[in-house]
Amino acid sequence: MKNRLSYRLQNISFSQTIAMSSKARELKNKGHDVINLSLGEPDFYPPNFVLSAAKKAIDEGYHYYTPVSGYLELKKVICEKFHRDNHLKYNPYQIVVSTGAKQAIMNVLLSLLNRDDEVIIPAPYWVSYLQMVKICESNPVIIPTVMKNNFKINPEQLEKAITSKTKLFIFSTPCNPTGSVYSYDELKNLAEVFKKYPEIMILSDEIYEHICYSEKHTSIAIFPNIYHQVITVNGLSKAFSMTGWRIGYIGAPKWIAESCDKIQGQMTSCANSIAQIAAITALSSHPSKIEYMIKEFKKRRNLVLDMIKEIDGFQFYQPNGAFYIFPKVSNFFGQKLHGKMIKNSDEFSEFLLEQSKVATVSGSAFGNNECLRISYASSEEKIIEAFTRIKKILN
Ligand code: PMP
Ligand code: GLU
Repeated sequence: MKNRLSYRLQNISFSQTIAMSSKARELKNKGHDVINLSLGEPDFYPPNFVLSAAKKAIDEGYHYYTPVSGYLELKKVICEKFHRDNHLKYNPYQIVVSTGAKQAIMNVLLSLLNRDDEVIIPAPYWVSYLQMVKICESNPVIIPTVMKNNFKINPEQLEKAITSKTKLFIFSTPCNPTGSVYSYDELKNLAEVFKKYPEIMILSDEIYEHICYSEKHTSIAIFPNIYHQVITVNGLSKAFSMTGWRIGYIGAPKWIAESCDKIQGQMTSCANSIAQIAAITALSSHPSKIEYMIKEFKKRRNLVLDMIKEIDGFQFYQPNGAFYIFPKVSNFFGQKLHGKMIKNSDEFSEFLLEQSKVATVSGSAFGNNECLRISYASSEEKIIEAFTRIKKILN
């Protein structure tokens, strides 16, 4: 029978982060002692004060559809948050609250992209950007980066990638999967390029903004000349360890916010009402309230750096944000490990899962097939056990 799936879908892959995590879960259910360092999901419980707010919201009767773009009170709190943490000025009509940052990003892409538009994405990139662009039938233009430059692009690379078809630039800082963080000066230099191309929009994914270990996070929208080109994306999944609550949001030019509101009104009506009320409490609290989690991530990052040094053949650089390390594992390609020839990062990741029962994600999912993504959003105990197993199997 003829393939009845849309052309759009025939070209799309499953999310490899989610696929690897499901695989790990399946093996676990079959009784294997799997350590899952594949998914970027903090293992903390959400803060108690946020949980209390959600329970109260249930008791107080927040059971109904909310305005499509979110409760006005939440949008006001988001504006205050942007001002407090990012020195950005947004008005409530520039805010749209969505079902996770994932939906927020998809709303923006659907608002902007036509078939054959070009979207510049530095690699390594977060797994879903590429597929989302393809869903919109646009063309990703990838700028490769190297570990030597902490996986960051420079203004020359950016300018070289721009063509008359460029519609959008997408990046994350702190970056998933590399953990690199763009400095104020680096962003300023990129902003100088964007200033010359006012038609190009910039989607700045800042979902890891609080998970920064050295210098403070900077939002690219703070550069006044390009403020009107930027869509700032954020959410509660990482900072508040609320992945399942599904709250993400954008601050954007009014015309983009209106369009996201229109799309969302047709697709989901609104984000979850109870989670929105909890988000009011979460986002109106000072970031110092979640510092205990950041400190713990930093401890884990340092632990990972100590342990990874002990593994022969891994090349890595120190991540300064998010909760991933992205080592180069290409030294193992072309080698036989425990009787199995390893040709690429997919096979290397498979090998680790089969032989040491440690789940990671192949760098190919993020546009770099020499590396491997290891998430350290798990407990110290699990990290120690995982790296001990990897070391044992490889050294
Ligand atoms: N952007 C990045 C860079 C991410 O790592 C994630 C993780 N899921 C998301 C967006 C989406 O987050 P969520 O939909 O859970 O808010
Ligand atoms: N962002 C997380 C990750 O990269 C969660 C999974 C996903 O949404 O892709 O692992």
